[in-house]
Amino acid sequence: MRGTVLHGPRDIRFEERDDPKILQPTDAIIAMTATCICGSDLWPYRGVQPIAEPMPIGHEYCGIVEETGSAVTSVKPGQFVIGSFFASDNTCPICRAGYQSSCVHREGVGGAQSPRLRLPLADGTLVPTRDAPPAELIPSLLALSDVMGTGWFAADAANVKPGHTVVVGDGAVGLLGVLSAKVRGAERIIAMSRHESRQQLAREFGATDIVTERGDDGVARIKELTGGLGADSVLECVGTQESMMQAIKSTRPGGYVGYVGVPHGVELNGQELFFDHVHLHGGPAPVRRYLPDLIDLVLNGKINPGKVFDLTLPLERVAEGYRAMDERRAIKTLLQP
Ligand SMILES: [Zn+2]
Repeated sequence: MRGTVLHGPRDIRFEERDDPKILQPTDAIIAMTATCICGSDLWPYRGVQPIAEPMPIGHEYCGIVEETGSAVTSVKPGQFVIGSFFASDNTCPICRAGYQSSCVHREGVGGAQSPRLRLPLADGTLVPTRDAPPAELIPSLLALSDVMGTGWFAADAANVKPGHTVVVGDGAVGLLGVLSAKVRGAERIIAMSRHESRQQLAREFGATDIVTERGDDGVARIKELTGGLGADSVLECVGTQESMMQAIKSTRPGGYVGYVGVPHGVELNGQELFFDHVHLHGGPAPVRRYLPDLIDLVLNGKINPGKVFDLTLPLERVAEGYRAMDERRAIKTLLQP
């Protein structure tokens, strides 16, 4: 098959790769229905996170099970499935505590921007739908694999509750953090955004206020909007020093920061943190925990996170999808094999 391989900074190739094979009895192979490009794929794409050798890339997926190993019992060939970017057994104590992305047997999923994908620990990782979903729901179901699951975790980690004032950014995860906050009953949702199309989508997802300032000015504006106190819940979905500090400083004492952007060069000052008095919780989202409920919300028409995809390309034009996201011309690119 031909699949997506990152060779170096801004060097994405769609080239011949080996077909995935069942390696362990707990594996499954899926035929990709749709995949997409993640904001976190841009770190190695931009060379910020160096790679040692050509790397098959992509970790968001949904598709039809083609083949299963002899030990797999909960999914079978022909079923439509969605899974997380970390494979997990879903049975160890950490999984049972709801942190499948730190499963003691976890394995990262890579190489999903391809027509076929091997998934380890298929029983614990993959969630099947009862019937084959209609085509118009595929983008929203695909979004659950990471971007929506991560936005939902950010809202959960930030303790978003009915009546809360919430602050979120305008990246793909941030926008779905807005949607998550809305579904969880937030009263006021402040989106930090200077891009008109993103502001519009944020409003569509439930944002009540837009703040265009950033950094210290952004914090000052949030304080103005919250009676000088800061927000109850802030979702940090970027992972830079500036975005992390902006999140912490925008939170009221006793409030919560949910951080899901992979940190790059973020350092926190213990003394400041001590007196800021905020809860910090984050990490790679345990998407598997949320999949059953989020799948129901999509299938019942309650949420439409697939709106975050503003560019759809055939899989072989994946390099164009990376360029569009790198240059912020696209919020998120969906790829069709
Ligand atoms: Zn586990």
